[in-house]
Amino acid sequence: MVILNRARIVKTLDKVNQIGLTESGINRLAYTVEDKEAKYFIREQCELIGLQAKEDAAGNLIVRRPGLNDSLPAVAVGSHLDTVYGGGKYDGTIGVLAGLEIFRMLEEGEIKTLHPIELIVFACEESSRFNFSTLGSKAIIGAIDKDYVKQLKDKNNYTVPEVFEKQSLNFDHIEHAVRKESELKVFLELHIEQGSQLVTYKKTIGIVTGIAAPLRVALTIVGKRAHSGTTSMENRQDAFLAAAEIALKVEDAAIEEAKFGTVATVGVVDVLSSAMNVIPGKANLKIDIRSTDVSSRNRVLEKIKAELKRVEKSRKVKVGIEWMTEEEPVHMDQKVIKEISSICEKNNIPYMFMASGAGHDAMYMAKRWPAALIFVPSVNGISHHPDEFTEIDDIVNGMKVLKELVLSYAILADENVRREA
Ligand SMILES: [Zn+2]
Repeated sequence: MVILNRARIVKTLDKVNQIGLTESGINRLAYTVEDKEAKYFIREQCELIGLQAKEDAAGNLIVRRPGLNDSLPAVAVGSHLDTVYGGGKYDGTIGVLAGLEIFRMLEEGEIKTLHPIELIVFACEESSRFNFSTLGSKAIIGAIDKDYVKQLKDKNNYTVPEVFEKQSLNFDHIEHAVRKESELKVFLELHIEQGSQLVTYKKTIGIVTGIAAPLRVALTIVGKRAHSGTTSMENRQDAFLAAAEIALKVEDAAIEEAKFGTVATVGVVDVLSSAMNVIPGKANLKIDIRSTDVSSRNRVLEKIKAELKRVEKSRKVKVGIEWMTEEEPVHMDQKVIKEISSICEKNNIPYMFMASGAGHDAMYMAKRWPAALIFVPSVNGISHHPDEFTEIDDIVNGMKVLKELVLSYAILADENVRREA
């Protein structure tokens, strides 16, 4: 069996990462010239080895290696090339390069598979440009709310349809990107962890069992604005202190659910009309609770709600709660998970099962097809930053696991076996 070419992987990674490189990291924002250039580079490399590529109506690049029975559903791999402002070299990119390397290796070895294999380079995975993430994968499963996306603007006031036009795409036709369930057999994504669990537990591969989904609420705490010098301590209705107590309870409630991988964060705190000599009369908190376990997530919410009642009484404030989002966690396919763990065992690659706290294209693909998400370690857990780093050995091991997974689903043709015998 032919093997992955480590030197070629390093060289290609370096090439891609010249595109959009600045002194403060990589700027390859969705639907920019740099993003397009990176996609074009991948397309060119695939066409050089005789594969056909096309761009769909959402700007996803799809490269296809035909199967011996090309009417069979394709085994798809993929990730993204777009970055945040000042992004790193590995987020998304390694998943795309894994697909390219698998193609190169199969072509080199003249390996034939029964099922076709596809590489999907998803458009606009990062939310940095439009405050809207995973546009490409949402388009593929038909989960784009056109009216909503149409009015989104980037920081230069360009709308999504305007940006599409600059890329020779037509946003009005985005539904042409939708794929039928029968077109794909499975979707497999290799990605960096963007956290530090794999390094902490000294594992090379993280097999994602589920992707946590956020439940977000906004709280408005109304107390009474008053003079800080003339209002005695027992007569205060301090909205900020009420907010502070609630925020600490959010932390406690999440810690109690830690064994379910549940996390909760107060990411936005606004204390209104604050001045040194004024007792804050109003505060807003935004709370993000994430878990792959809905009941654990709900328990955190219930504890927070109980705390709101207590704080309303003890601090004589009113707390309003507004629902922002409540998404369903996604569970990855059990059969594929099992297959990945047996590949790791066979190759003596240390692995662990884990949940992903961040969303990825695989999360949306999993809504329509059996899907898997494979993590490799991020040194110090750093991501979305120029210091993002993953060891090349880990990248190669991740690609190796992905390659074996692809071959197990794409099914080697008998003639390969005959040739090797
Ligand atoms: Zn990513």
